[in-house]
Amino acid sequence: MRRIDKEIKDPELIQKILKQAKVCRIALCIDGKPYIVPMNFGYHDKILYLHSATEGRKIDILRKNSNICFEVDIKTQLVTSGNPCKWGMRYLSVIGSGKAHFIDNIEGKMEALDIIMAKYSSKSENSFKYSRDALSSVLIIKVEIENITGKKSGY
Ligand SMILES: Cc1cc2nc3c(=O)[nH]c(=O)nc-3n(C[C@H](O)[C@H](O)[C@H](O)COP(=O)(O)OP(=O)(O)OC[C@H]3O[C@@H](n4cnc5c(N)ncnc54)[C@H](O)[C@@H]3O)c2cc1C
Repeated sequence: MRRIDKEIKDPELIQKILKQAKVCRIALCIDGKPYIVPMNFGYHDKILYLHSATEGRKIDILRKNSNICFEVDIKTQLVTSGNPCKWGMRYLSVIGSGKAHFIDNIEGKMEALDIIMAKYSSKSENSFKYSRDALSSVLIIKVEIENITGKKSGY
């Protein structure tokens, strides 16, 4: 990282950002061209969980190239100034990369959905019920994180 002074070295803060962030932008690549999609997500133990319909452009790409780069951020705040060159953003952000795998079995899908649901609700894991139809039609993408960095500005 060029601005080493802004690097987040504390793994607990990186985890906190992943827990608090509401949107994860996942970057994919096919034929040398990038494709990015915002998604909701869950995080547990160095793994990202994403849920999706079984078809669409991102899934087509992932079936051919399972490499994912992702970004999340929290506490974004514009910093203004009388001097246009002093405007900026305050933020806490995380960028990581890893390999995507699809989870096919029902138990694995339920576990992943529980992690996602617990993140966005005030309920704990295991307190959610999913219909068999919903479980059959959802695709779960599990991303095993291989590299991760955190950066902060203004905090
Ligand atoms: C805050 C947020 C959270 C989301 N959470 C989820 C989630 O958890 N799971 C999930 O599956 N989807 C989620 N979505 C929708 C997601 O961004 C995609 O639209 C969706 O997954 C379909 O992607 P796809 O590649 O299959 O697109 P397709 O339906 O195959 O369409 C591909 C084309 O549509 C365009 N496109 C696709 N998505 C978008 C978009 N978001 N904005 C503008 N253009 C687009 C692309 O440029 C591309 O050319 C979320 C969107 C937002 C904004």
